[in-house]
Amino acid sequence: MVRDSNRFSLSTSARSSMPRDRRILGACPHCGQASYTCSYNLFQTAGLRIDSWEHKCPDCGHRETQAYRSDADDLAEGFDPEVCPFCGREPLG
Ligand SMILES: [Zn+2]
Ligand SMILES: [Zn+2]
Repeated sequence: MVRDSNRFSLSTSARSSMPRDRRILGACPHCGQASYTCSYNLFQTAGLRIDSWEHKCPDCGHRETQAYRSDADDLAEGFDPEVCPFCGREPLG
């Protein structure tokens, strides 16, 4: 019983702290198919935050990824990890 309630609260908080945001960009720069997507994921744990971006084409498999860790020391001052490094969009909502 205790385990079940723990699992429920865990999945609830995980969902709220890990919004998944995918947008269809249109034509793939490699194969031209119109299903090229831009995905954003945010991972947050105590003391660490990771913003992850992915451009991906399900047709030809072309993929680009970039992740920014809040504990990285090579991020420029004022750098905004909530901007896609590939297309420049920001997360929805
Ligand atoms: Zn493609
Ligand atoms: Zn993008």
